[in-house]
Amino acid sequence: AAPISDGREETMSASAAAATDSPSSSSAPRLEGKVALVTGGASGIGEAIVRLFRQHGAKVCIADIHDEAGQQVCDSLGGDPGALFVHCDVTVEEDISRAVDAAAEKFGTLDIMVNNAGITGDKVTDIRNLDFAEVRKVFDINVHGMLLGMKHAARIMIPNSKGSIVSLASVASVMGGLGPHAYTASKHAVAGLTKSVALELGRHGIRVNCVSPYAVPTALSMPHLPQGEHKGDAVRDFLAFVGSEANLKGVDLLPKDVAEAVLYLASDEARYISALNLVVDGGFTSVNRNLKAFED
Ligand code: NAD
Repeated sequence: AAPISDGREETMSASAAAATDSPSSSSAPRLEGKVALVTGGASGIGEAIVRLFRQHGAKVCIADIHDEAGQQVCDSLGGDPGALFVHCDVTVEEDISRAVDAAAEKFGTLDIMVNNAGITGDKVTDIRNLDFAEVRKVFDINVHGMLLGMKHAARIMIPNSKGSIVSLASVASVMGGLGPHAYTASKHAVAGLTKSVALELGRHGIRVNCVSPYAVPTALSMPHLPQGEHKGDAVRDFLAFVGSEANLKGVDLLPKDVAEAVLYLASDEARYISALNLVVDGGFTSVNRNLKAFED
């Protein structure tokens, strides 16, 4: 987590710095009294969600395979009694079950489950060279891991007749060509799972949504920067490249922006929102950037 956070801070643009101090972060806490579990909370978007949730009063369990980074995030919250790290591989059902139980035992219940852990898998997009072991790995984490998260969160939430489950999909959940085949298929599956489980859990008062970001500089996405775009500063080069492809200009999409969308869906402000795929892409997947007819 550390190198990317540091790099990001160093290269943050004025608009990004403004986003960090956005009014929603400094206004009244929006998750006071709530207990959340964030898978993949040791770095990137998950880490930003953990930090924002704590800022808004939630008690947070960080569940990740990366023990050192996960414990570091936990410790950096100041030996905070409102944060807990649990080793958890989301592909192992006992791990998810144990993490959910650890959160509920330490903090009394589970109100919010964030299924965030994910990988892109191999960069290969030539279907003739597809490595099926790699496809299975992507589905194990991105789909089965999120399904297991929903299953074990529901175990705690159903008796309470309330709860919010938020999963990280991607712009690759609504459009092809934004990642390797298995990644695109897995993220379409997350959007489908969200609708399916929202139907079942709606009758128990539990909301189920997903968030689909455009490219954000993290350990997951930055290795995918095309070779020719490397100019010497990894985060700046990444932001310049994705910015040049973006629909919305002059704003860098950062982990914090995605965390704000997750915060909204997790909070009572979204109390009637369910089965939504909240696309955080500045319009990228909704507009035709190739048709020049309407340009000046
Ligand atoms: P990241 O690599 O920075 O963080 C992912 C975290 O998940 C890491 O801490 C990692 O240790 C953890 N993890 C990986 N496999 C795990 C497993 N089996 N069990 C538990 N934890 C595991 O990635 P990120 O960019 O922060 O991605 C978070 C989510 O956001 C992913 O689901 C990703 O697909 C999605 N997303 C990211 C982007 C982007 O541009 N970064 C865009 C759209 C969607």
